Amino acid sequence: MLYLNIWRALTPLNELPGPAERIMQAKHDSQVEQLLPLLTPLFGLVVLLFSLWDWRLDPAHAGAALIVRVAAVLLAGVGYWPNRLGWSVTTRCAVIYFCHAGAIIACAWLLQPGLQAGMGAIAASIFSMSVVTLRLRNFVAIVSAPTLLFLLLATLQLGWQDLANCVIQYLFALVLAASVMLLFRLFHQRAFLLEQQLLHLSHHDSLTGACNRLYLEQVAERELALAQRHGRSLAVAMLDIDHFKQVNDNYGHDIGDRVLQELVRCCQGALREVDHFGRLGGEEFICVLPETDRAEAQQCAERLRASLASLRLDTPQGPLRFTVSIGVAVHSPQHPDWPALLKAADKAMYRAKHSGRNCVRLAGTAPEELSSPPAPS
Ligand code: GH3
Ligand code: MG
Ligand code: MG
Repeated sequence: MLYLNIWRALTPLNELPGPAERIMQAKHDSQVEQLLPLLTPLFGLVVLLFSLWDWRLDPAHAGAALIVRVAAVLLAGVGYWPNRLGWSVTTRCAVIYFCHAGAIIACAWLLQPGLQAGMGAIAASIFSMSVVTLRLRNFVAIVSAPTLLFLLLATLQLGWQDLANCVIQYLFALVLAASVMLLFRLFHQRAFLLEQQLLHLSHHDSLTGACNRLYLEQVAERELALAQRHGRSLAVAMLDIDHFKQVNDNYGHDIGDRVLQELVRCCQGALREVDHFGRLGGEEFICVLPETDRAEAQQCAERLRASLASLRLDTPQGPLRFTVSIGVAVHSPQHPDWPALLKAADKAMYRAKHSGRNCVRLAGTAPEELSSPPAPS
């Protein structure tokens, strides 16, 4: 039972599934990247200020230590702003950390009374790496080079007893810093998942899971701007369930809700990954179809109409079928912005209603009958 509880407590430390982990890492990396131009000079300043302590401790070697410190701080500049080498944030942190921690270790080794006196600063420098990455393997990769340098210099300088003492202190600091890093990841991951949940709730309709109107409008405006910029076509299809009030009246509101959910499931399955589908309100839905011309949009709308007409819901009152009327509008100079495009699709949808429902109508031209068979009224 105890093992089970420990295992459960550690589960959040596993990588998140699929793209969530990548998004979280990328967000954290960009935050660290923004902080590098501030944190790196600060780290460098601390490393340089320690030379005051060097002069007090061992004036004979303080000059050599200062040269090491200045050289390391200058070298660390390669890893930060502006980074023209195209390194990842982890590589940049590894370079910056190696220069600074390496300088602290090398100076402690140069000065009398040796590495033992510098253990406090060496251990403290490890903790600065607890917040720059969310992955244990990255943490290990970042601290590995300074750790090797420390082990090498400690072995060269110290007797067995002092060596064992220093290595234990170093390893203790390393394990503690890794634990802080994992704790940081835990908090970061919880905040990230909560943020994702809130984002999802604010972008989606709670009944059907389709995009809500606000989010759909944002997406549509962006797609429209892209289509205009690159001279590509963009189509919009507006769907409205036929006689939906009768469904509610005859089968009940809960079955009406199921119809809305089935419609969304069916449409999302029939559309491409690049298309966007959302609920405008009530029983009205919108498809935003990027890079889709009139003929393709008409085909797509017809396919949706036919798929929905063939759906059958089993209800306590017997099987239920429903149909939709669809209006299609394609981005053109007549309706250049989103409100105009939506209005054109809405008008075309009302033409479909007046043509007998269960059919598709195109906006922008004189009414031309499509292949859809009108529904029996
Ligand atoms: P038409 O073919 O002309 O579109 O007729 P209609 O009955 O579909 O249109 P009308 O606008 O008269 O009715 C829409 C109905 O949709 C009325 C409303 O109760 C129902 N409705 C709106 N939102 C929901 C919902 O979330 N769940 C359910 N079950 N019904 C809803
Ligand atoms: Mg309606
Ligand atoms: Mg309706």
